[in-house]
This record gives sequence, structure tokens and C-alpha cells, in this order.
Amino acid sequence: MSGGKDSGVMLHLLSKQTDPEAILIDEGIEGYRDKNVENAKKVCEELDVPLNIYSFEEEYGFRLDDLDDKNLSRGPCSYCGVLRRSLLNEKSRELGFDKLAIGHNLDDEAQTGLMNFVRGEFHRIARMGKEVGVVEEEDFVKRFKPLRRCPEKEVVTYGLLIGLDAGFDECPYVKQAYRADIRDSLNDWEEKYPGTKFSVLNSSDELAGLIEDEFRGEIKKCSECGEPCAGDICQKCSMLREIRETL
Ligand code: SF4
Ligand code: ZN
Repeated sequence: MSGGKDSGVMLHLLSKQTDPEAILIDEGIEGYRDKNVENAKKVCEELDVPLNIYSFEEEYGFRLDDLDDKNLSRGPCSYCGVLRRSLLNEKSRELGFDKLAIGHNLDDEAQTGLMNFVRGEFHRIARMGKEVGVVEEEDFVKRFKPLRRCPEKEVVTYGLLIGLDAGFDECPYVKQAYRADIRDSLNDWEEKYPGTKFSVLNSSDELAGLIEDEFRGEIKKCSECGEPCAGDICQKCSMLREIRETL
């Protein structure tokens, strides 16, 4: 649960069919996440869904806004994404969740597929697919994405129709992200050639099936934190090391 429209709509739909519990990671983004935390509380209260909140500040000792972007090797979204995913997995496991539903919509998924392809990151494509986190590892809480074939416009429309109390604002860091350029290009193509987003997602899924054995890689344990990872040290630990050196 992020407090945004996608996870709000997803929680609405899931709570009609099952008995979900929500988890929210507050990265510490002033004027954006703080508002969405309040939205998330309202939506969860309305749906009578328990909400578990964790923050970068409490878990890692800093807020995303504290990052010294001039001295770090990557943009804020890279750190935000890795650190959030890692906390989501760790805390979902501690909470005993069977599965973790992620509210990514068609636009997000097509952007990720295209981005991975343009950057030549085949190991990432191999790990995509209908069930993200399909790598069988007991320490990974299985993920699934119920909205991945729903265009963003439809999710927004559904949210408005049900009067969802969710944030429709954008994160202030999104403009710095490579994803923003990919998103704009995809939107242009979709306008000219309707169906492009579905085609990109289908291509990425097809490709994932063909290359998964070769590119998915072996799962090891991080020598620092013990979490599952591809190398000797997980991305979270190497990023935390880099961030702490600059703070
Ligand atoms: Fe984090 Fe970037 Fe998403 Fe903002 S846009 S929440 S910084 S990943
Ligand atoms: Zn680690």
C-alpha cells in the first residue's frame, strides 16, 4: 500500500475477495509520501484492513530526502526502489504474509519491460513475468501483480468512480528518473499506435519465458545481512554502505 491510486484500487478489489492486510513503506519524501500515508490510513480504515507502516528513517536511519545526490553514483529512484523492495520482503516475511500483491499497472509494467530491454538488462527481464519473485526461495515472499494488465487510465477512472481517497500526485523525484523519458515515449507511441503498451508487455513476458533459465541466476545469501541475493553482497547492503559514507 503506497497511498496512491494503484494500490488503493488494488486493495479495494482484493478486499472484496479475500482478507488482506496492508504494508506501507514511508521513504521520507516530504509533500508526497507523508500525504499518501494519511490517504492510506483513511482507505484502510474505510475497508477495515490492518495497515503496517515501516519507515526508512526508523529502519535505516535516514530519509530519502536526506540523500546527498551530488555525491551518490545513482539517482534517488535507484536507492528508493531497492531499499523499499528489500524492506517490503523482510517485513512481509516477519508478518507471515503468504503473498505480496503489488499495485503496478500496465503502464508501469510496459515501462519496466522497455527500460530493461533498452538497457540490455536481461537478468531483470528474466525475473519479470506474471508473478514477480517467482524465484523459488523460502526467504522471498511470493509477489503477484493483479493490475498489470489494467491501463493506468482505467485504474484512475475506477478510483474516481469509487470515490477513492488516494493520492493522484506524482513523486517529486520522478522527473529525474530514466523511467520518465521511457513513460513519455511509450505514451506517444500508444497515442499513435494504440495497443503498444500491451504489445511491449507481451513481448517482455514472452522473452522472460525464453531466457529465464539462462539469465535468472543462482540465489545466494548476502554475507552482511543474510537476505537472498544474486552476488556476495546484496544491493541493499552495498547501497546502504555508499549512502552512509556520504551522510
Ligand atoms: Fe521512490 Fe522514485 Fe518512486 Fe519517488 S518516483 S517513490 S523516489 S522510486
Ligand atoms: Zn545484504
